[in-house]
Amino acid sequence: MTLSQERILATEIPGPRSRALQERKVAAVSAGVGTTLPVYVEQAGGGILRDVDGNQLIDFGSGIAVTTVGNAAPRVVEAVQRQVADFTHTCFMVTPYEEYVEVCEKLAELTPGSHEKRSALFNSGAEAVENAVKVARHHTGRDAIVVFDHAYHGRTNLTMALTAKNMPYKHGFGPFAGEIYRAPMAYPYRWPGGPEACADEAFEAFVNTVHAQVGEDSCAAVLIEPIQGEGGFIVPPAGWLPRVADWCREQGILFIADEIQTGFARTGDWFASDHEGVVPDLVTTAKGMAGGLPLAAVTGRAEVMDSVHVGGLGGTYGGNPVACASALAAMETMQELDLPARAREIEAIFVPRLQALAQRHPERVGDIRGRGAMLAVELVSDGPGRTPDAALAGAVHRACSAEGLVTLTCGTFGNVFRFLPPLSIDDHLLSEGLDIFEAAFDRAAAGSQ
Ligand SMILES: *Cc1c(COP(=O)(O)O)cnc(C)c1O
Repeated sequence: MTLSQERILATEIPGPRSRALQERKVAAVSAGVGTTLPVYVEQAGGGILRDVDGNQLIDFGSGIAVTTVGNAAPRVVEAVQRQVADFTHTCFMVTPYEEYVEVCEKLAELTPGSHEKRSALFNSGAEAVENAVKVARHHTGRDAIVVFDHAYHGRTNLTMALTAKNMPYKHGFGPFAGEIYRAPMAYPYRWPGGPEACADEAFEAFVNTVHAQVGEDSCAAVLIEPIQGEGGFIVPPAGWLPRVADWCREQGILFIADEIQTGFARTGDWFASDHEGVVPDLVTTAKGMAGGLPLAAVTGRAEVMDSVHVGGLGGTYGGNPVACASALAAMETMQELDLPARAREIEAIFVPRLQALAQRHPERVGDIRGRGAMLAVELVSDGPGRTPDAALAGAVHRACSAEGLVTLTCGTFGNVFRFLPPLSIDDHLLSEGLDIFEAAFDRAAAGSQ
């Protein structure tokens, strides 16, 4: 890696070259495609993004949980270069190749459960979710899909229907696909009866929703992110997820875990379902799986995945050989470097610092949550009042950006500050990034009292 692992502020952020590119962007790219930090990247690796003005930014976002093994990770670069020189596409449905099969073998090995599994590969997370729903409906002969408040499953028509948040994902884009039902999410911080009551009451509310609004025998699948991503890094209380999964099994309802953001070492285990020993019938994966190349998968019980007629699943590019080669190299990197353990180390570095911040700002930091290298703070304006403070999150985000720290926010109310560093980042960059975040937070909180 030639990129020095140091933050450099060569110009203001964004610098003159980035601003010129942003002008071209506005004239050529649909306004519907937003950019949260219009700094144009030229090179990236480790924990650094280098822009066209020579600035080097610390990366706490990983391109939304994608570059888990780092940008341009050495094994990924080597595997992709080799594959792209061999062949770039045949279409697996026409003349297949080994890399696709090998990715599916690795998925069977790494995803939760030791049962017999099959996979199918796609291009994006949304496409994987769409296909998991197709498989579930086909296998069960039932129509209804149950999802949760705060869920995010993508931006295609079906996945918009599955996603909870209107702005910006759904507004004006309807009508949406039918037979989607929504249950309350077990969200301890905002559970009306308090965090202690959340597991039991949320389980009861979930069962009541399925029973009263859907009917158990009309329900094909329950689809859930084991830790919700875009909705606010919401971690359900211990025991809730296994209860939901067990209940689904008793009713003949398939349990689908959307591990697109949580999967592949991010949360300190291979999958977020692993933390509670949950074995989903179907798992969707994408983001961190392929070192930055577009690849997604549905992996599930052999009898479920094989119930679909031949030709029922596929797509021109699904499981592209270059993306598969990249995924194999990324997975090998995660195993050899034990990246789940690295994610737990990152958690151990972050959490005490976030706790100290919460102590300094008890009225503004409402909750600290997450697992591994998927951590967040929920910001409020009035401590126990829990009023979401999206303006504070925005102010901290802008201040971090100006100092050369790339961060992300999320949450239904836009008030959650999330951390998703690449697992290839050095400790000194983590610590420097946290210094910047804390100073930005102190200033923004003081300015908005
Ligand atoms: C990002 C994401 C998706 C959608 O993936 P795309 O590749 O953007 O289509 C679906 N589910 C979850 C949980 C995600 O985080």
